[in-house]
Amino acid sequence: MITIITSSEINYYALETLVDFTGIVPQSSINFCTGDRVSYIQSGKLNVVFNQVKKSNKFPKIIDCEIKGNYLYIHTDIIGWIIESLTRSEESRVTNNNGRTIPMEESFAYKQGIHQKPYLDQIIHDFQVQFISFLDANKVPWEQIHPSTNPILSLTHDVDSIQAKSVFRYIYWMIQGITCLNIKKIKIIIDRIKDINNLDSDPHFSFDIYKNIEGKFGYKSTFYLLSLAHYLGREGRRYTLKNKKLSDKVRDLVQNGWEIGLHPSRVTHLSQKMLKKEVSRFNKAFHYIGNSIGVRNHYLKAIFPETWRLQELLGFKYDSSLGWAKSPGFRAGTAKPFRPFDIKDNRFLNVWELPLIVMDGAIQGSSSEITDQIIKIAEESFQNYAPLTLLWHSDRISNRDYPEHSAAYQKLLKYFKDRNCIGIPATEVIDLYENYYKTMASHRRRINEPEIKFQND
Ligand SMILES: [Zn+2]
Repeated sequence: MITIITSSEINYYALETLVDFTGIVPQSSINFCTGDRVSYIQSGKLNVVFNQVKKSNKFPKIIDCEIKGNYLYIHTDIIGWIIESLTRSEESRVTNNNGRTIPMEESFAYKQGIHQKPYLDQIIHDFQVQFISFLDANKVPWEQIHPSTNPILSLTHDVDSIQAKSVFRYIYWMIQGITCLNIKKIKIIIDRIKDINNLDSDPHFSFDIYKNIEGKFGYKSTFYLLSLAHYLGREGRRYTLKNKKLSDKVRDLVQNGWEIGLHPSRVTHLSQKMLKKEVSRFNKAFHYIGNSIGVRNHYLKAIFPETWRLQELLGFKYDSSLGWAKSPGFRAGTAKPFRPFDIKDNRFLNVWELPLIVMDGAIQGSSSEITDQIIKIAEESFQNYAPLTLLWHSDRISNRDYPEHSAAYQKLLKYFKDRNCIGIPATEVIDLYENYYKTMASHRRRINEPEIKFQND
């Protein structure tokens, strides 16, 4: 049992996260305590003492620590860095970003060249190594538990369009061609229109293509659907959930174990009223799937923690909008699902975050180059027992429009299968981690101040 003794809710959040992320379960009683509570601990026991003095603005590469008898002193402010990374507090300090997200270039991780590394997991792993040495030196048996014995894949698709064959689209292209007065370009556009129109199936209505590819490997994924009032609107030419072909396909997907979630439009990220409308349309269309759904915002448009607060209010199970649009990477320093903490309200938020690690459009090149880059980042996640959350848009599987991405997706799935990965819908990934964190929580406890005083009396 690990007993955590500290002075604030946020410190409890950080230390509980630390314990849960390591997965280490010692077989005897150990105290984890912050420097300001050292006087409360019993000297006979084993103690890990966390110093909270931030010495540098640079994210630490290794843990500075020392063992003195039955004390392990951690001099690196790991608590401060867990709070900084997971609350995304730096994002609320950035202004003038057009309400989208913090520009990646302004994040401390990018500036330090670690945005493509699970930097938080790595420093926690370094702590874990020191902690294990401490337990071994004191002859305390321990075991390590993990959410899954196999690496986990969270395959997701934002469905921005379901119809490539569209008269509106053809007219739009023609206008573009005519306005540039280039005969060659107009000819290319006419050929393109003919080409798409002659296809047997619509390349944007790609549900069956994904279902077949993923099903071949025993994988299931999550589709995030827009829930707009009209076919044409602020988001351009999209679709509505009243589309019969779409609702029939969704039913088929859900019956076969695939999952759907909501893809809220850009205006909703800070508007409870607008988000509520989209949720209500979604629930009406898919009343049979229950209310606790997941969400990924269109264009990843979100401001943390405000967007989390809104999502909590509307009862979403999880968000998966926390990722960089420009580059693959670890926006919170980890790929693991976590419960965010609201610094302003000083409390845990009742919504999960499943960080988005790789988005298709952020990686260019040949199919082999795309595959290699994603495998590299996937392995960084797997090394730390974290899932890989991958976003492939509904149109990126089209052989005709995105031959390299389409081939890369299939190569990746083959690689992941050979690597013994399991591929499950996002909600199942959250459930798996939620159960794992519950198990970890049963091996730790908090001591609140009155209880400490009682113990010392
Ligand atoms: Zn989108």
